[in-house]
Amino acid sequence: MSTTTQTTSQAPTCAASTGHTTVIVGSGLAGWTVARELRALLPQGRIIVISADAGDFYSKPMLSNAFALKKTVDGLVAMAGAAQATKVGVDLMAHTDVRAIDTAAQTLHTSGGDVHYDQLVLAVGADPIRLSMPGDEYVLSVNNWQDYAAFRAALDGCTDAANPGRRARVLIMGAGLIGSEFANDLITGGHEVHVVDPGERPLAALLAPEQSAGLQQALVDLGVRFHLGTTATGVSVGDDGAKHVTLSNAGVVTADVVLSAVGLRARTALAVASGLEVGRGIHVDAMGQTSAPNVYAVGDCAAYASAAKPELFDGAPRGLPFVLPIMTAAKAIAKTLAGEPTPIVFAPMAVRVKTPAFPLSVQA
Ligand SMILES: Cc1cc2nc3c(=O)[nH]c(=O)nc-3n(C[C@H](O)[C@H](O)[C@H](O)COP(=O)(O)OP(=O)(O)OC[C@H]3O[C@@H](n4cnc5c(N)ncnc54)[C@H](O)[C@@H]3O)c2cc1C
Repeated sequence: MSTTTQTTSQAPTCAASTGHTTVIVGSGLAGWTVARELRALLPQGRIIVISADAGDFYSKPMLSNAFALKKTVDGLVAMAGAAQATKVGVDLMAHTDVRAIDTAAQTLHTSGGDVHYDQLVLAVGADPIRLSMPGDEYVLSVNNWQDYAAFRAALDGCTDAANPGRRARVLIMGAGLIGSEFANDLITGGHEVHVVDPGERPLAALLAPEQSAGLQQALVDLGVRFHLGTTATGVSVGDDGAKHVTLSNAGVVTADVVLSAVGLRARTALAVASGLEVGRGIHVDAMGQTSAPNVYAVGDCAAYASAAKPELFDGAPRGLPFVLPIMTAAKAIAKTLAGEPTPIVFAPMAVRVKTPAFPLSVQA
């Protein structure tokens, strides 16, 4: 392979003047899949992956079943960023924030300097939705490996030297896909689990009532305590460090760790500031291209015209924040970037719900 591989937080100095440069912003599943697929198709072109994090390659879905898989936090990382960059054959600018895109000059302004692009792929993911309530600062979210490391450290911090058998009391806000998976996994890990949700049953938006009831019963049988038809309204911390979560039904649950799993919102601020068309995500056409020339978007940050349905959001582009659609879109975009215009075509896809107590799948 003729490309050099480098891991740096500085902008590669020759990027503005030589060759054809594709820049991918983001090193999650979407970013690394585009990089890998494009490199396979284009052995000569320069590819730079810029990531706010270390660029480590890991399976995000494993974060919500790590106990079942008997994975340690470090064991979840399949490959460190630098090694992944070498394997794929790209330059990695790790720990580098892209702060602005000048779409006219085809230049990114980053914390490591300016970077020119000929083609740009935004794969910047999504942000966890946070509920605005007193004590929100005591609430954790898990949307990446670093979040999970902090979450596991909080769980481990609850181990009492005088009582080593004691596990953490965890309150999960949200009984959707991620909340239900964490509930199953944490109880498998021996922790005490409470789940709070305004709905009357878990995964109410995605499952038929009998499936939902089956899932709830299976989790209850394992020891999960549901607080349904109510919401968390605030968190306060006692002298002993315990968190007291007040509920809208006037109940109070005491927990060591509070985890929010109330959903994600496509990360669009960079695109908005750069003048790109944005709705429920960064709008992309059938080829994955945004409203700016030579700029593409894929993954949790994107809203695909190819996924639009007349009965959903008035037919506007919509996100498909799951592994299989991301792989489909990333492969098509890589072909287009390599010079073979390829529309993104999503087949009907089922997403497996990782609740071993009551295995299910839902339509993406
Ligand atoms: C706990 C959990 C379990 C899941 N389980 C499943 C499952 O079982 N099945 C399934 O299909 N899906 C599952 N999903 C969803 C799936 O994992 C995600 O849709 C997918 O991983 C998203 O990948 P991404 O690359 O789009 O985003 P991300 O992985 O979030 O990557 C975004 C990247 O962009 C970088 N970035 C962001 N902003 C900037 C910036 N300004 N400058 C530079 N870099 C930036 C970040 O550092 C990061 O590297 C799960 C999600 C979670 C959270």
